[in-house]
Amino acid sequence: MAVTAAPEAQASTTLVQALRVVSDEYLDCRGIAHRWQKTRDLHVVELTEDGHLVERHLECDRCTTIRRDRQLLRSDRWNVQRLERLHPLYEYPADYLMQEMRGVDHPKELVRFEQLSRSLGGKAAINRAIKKVEANVES
Ligand SMILES: [Zn+2]
Repeated sequence: MAVTAAPEAQASTTLVQALRVVSDEYLDCRGIAHRWQKTRDLHVVELTEDGHLVERHLECDRCTTIRRDRQLLRSDRWNVQRLERLHPLYEYPADYLMQEMRGVDHPKELVRFEQLSRSLGGKAAINRAIKKVEANVES
């Protein structure tokens, strides 16, 4: 009988392989955070059924993802105005999104491991670094 890997294990392996060819820039955006630059400050966009929609536009200067922060201008019962946060909208570059992230347990952990691997120079270098630390603990 053929031994087949569990679907989750297969998904992890597929993601590991896909991450190896992701650019350093995209990997930093995934593993650290986007570097948001304000491209348009808060402004009133339109009047919706729920109130005035206010947006702020940001762009990552590393991967060019665009984020539109959206909020509703409200007045509370004391007539104090405030902005209620709505879900932001994102526009990613076409090659940024990875189907391989789907169905993987804790995909960010795999992203960070790929970052460690690039930082140290591959799996063999990681193993050497681990052994070196272990040797320091024992002596
Ligand atoms: Zn980015």
